[in-house]
Amino acid sequence: MSYIDLKSAPKREERLKACIAHGGSICDLGGKGKKSCLVDDGERGFTQGSICLLLPALAMLNTLPDNVVLMHSAIGCGTCTHSQNANVRFGGNVRWGAVKDGIWLSTALNETDVIGGGEEKLEQAIIEADERYKPFSISVVSGCVPGIIGDDIDNVVKQLQPRVKAKLLPVHCEGFKTKIWATAYDAVYHSIGRTLLESNGAQETVTGEGEPGLTPYQGLERLPRTVNLMNVSSMGRVDELELTRLLTSLGLEVNVFPVFAHPAGMVTATQAALSVSTCPTHDDYFLTYLEERFGVPYLLKHMPIGIENSGLWLRDVARHFGQEAQAEALIRHEEEQLQAALAEFRPLFAGKTVFVSAGEFRALATARLLEELGFRVTGIRSFHHDEFAQGEYDKLAASAQEDYPIDIANVQPFEEANLLKRIKPDLFLGHANGNATAAKLGIATHVIYNTGLAYIGYRGAYDLARRLARQLKNPSYNRRLAENLRLPYSDTWYEAPPFSYINSRGGATQ
Ligand code: SF4
Repeated sequence: MSYIDLKSAPKREERLKACIAHGGSICDLGGKGKKSCLVDDGERGFTQGSICLLLPALAMLNTLPDNVVLMHSAIGCGTCTHSQNANVRFGGNVRWGAVKDGIWLSTALNETDVIGGGEEKLEQAIIEADERYKPFSISVVSGCVPGIIGDDIDNVVKQLQPRVKAKLLPVHCEGFKTKIWATAYDAVYHSIGRTLLESNGAQETVTGEGEPGLTPYQGLERLPRTVNLMNVSSMGRVDELELTRLLTSLGLEVNVFPVFAHPAGMVTATQAALSVSTCPTHDDYFLTYLEERFGVPYLLKHMPIGIENSGLWLRDVARHFGQEAQAEALIRHEEEQLQAALAEFRPLFAGKTVFVSAGEFRALATARLLEELGFRVTGIRSFHHDEFAQGEYDKLAASAQEDYPIDIANVQPFEEANLLKRIKPDLFLGHANGNATAAKLGIATHVIYNTGLAYIGYRGAYDLARRLARQLKNPSYNRRLAENLRLPYSDTWYEAPPFSYINSRGGATQ
């Protein structure tokens, strides 16, 4: 039985044995020294706030055109949509020249619903959303409350589907089920697969856990030069265009999937000649599914951030189509141009130290790019760890000038503050909402991801270098912040080992 036959995708703690708590070093995790098997993922004796899987799930679902997102949960769940809507508007504008808001509704479950059940409310909300917006699809996204009180969103969808025009996509995002928010990608892909790519869809087959019966669409024509370029929202349009430019240089056609893809056309993904991941952390679940059910082979190895990684990514694609020589010529040309353009920044970057924080693959690939630009990496915080990143740790271990800490942490800014106080890097790259700790310590910061900026491929390497040069030339804003603000941690914490609160499996604090 395949995962797709289950009602919902398994959590990554079980499927991948992924880990969120580990304090190690690049030589531990990479190829230089002993391999860490991360046996200390006993979580933490103290933990700060994190995010639930709704955030990445909604970052994907909100972009789908002609789709209504219907949250079935408490009113506060999914409020991240307020900030994500800027990306939906901007993303629509740069793709189609039209600014459009995402449509986001909530059943706003209250105390009475918790006691009496919320299924009736959900039924009414689906019918109303169908009549009012007439969308192609409605994503019915369940948060914690229905998971706790036992609302069966799959059965509601099954009963209601014949009565509404919109295709109903049940998406399981009960936040309490997993601490690894990357499970969200699997949850959304799972629903897309079950409802849009299988002929029986959600109407027939959701009555029982593990009940078989889905039938993949078959007989659709194979598109021999089409490549699925996977983007779960970790690339903006400018990065999509850079990779499209490189792939079309090899004479390939590009199907960007799934963000901003119309649900009615998603079946094209099953016809492609190849699927190419842009971040292995995001895509393994769906690419395995596409290969199993539709015979679409896939590449899941490199993230095309950085000079070396962009070349490796492109070579793998070219090898699949037997175009190695063409790819070599393209890479040589791109690298020559890029190296010449980077020359002006190298004196400024040489020897400067940097700390990188992000989702695992992005953090590691960006660290490698920063090394290529002349920085010295002195610390990395990855939001989780799984098997796919081992090759990136090996690359960084091979190029490291000295050992440095690796913090596997689902955010946990207190560990980051402790590390930054010790390491005192010249520069910190992290997500927009995760740069505050470094900024308040007076360290120059830059966003490691922003859908309006370039990061990927050769253009991304140049644009990032240009932005970093500007940042480093004038870090006075963050210096002033440090002079006028303080973080809430005591000296006792700064003096303690940074990984003091990471527990061993036996539960003892190290
Ligand atoms: S789904 Fe659960 S964890 Fe996520 S925001 Fe709602 S209540 Fe919080």
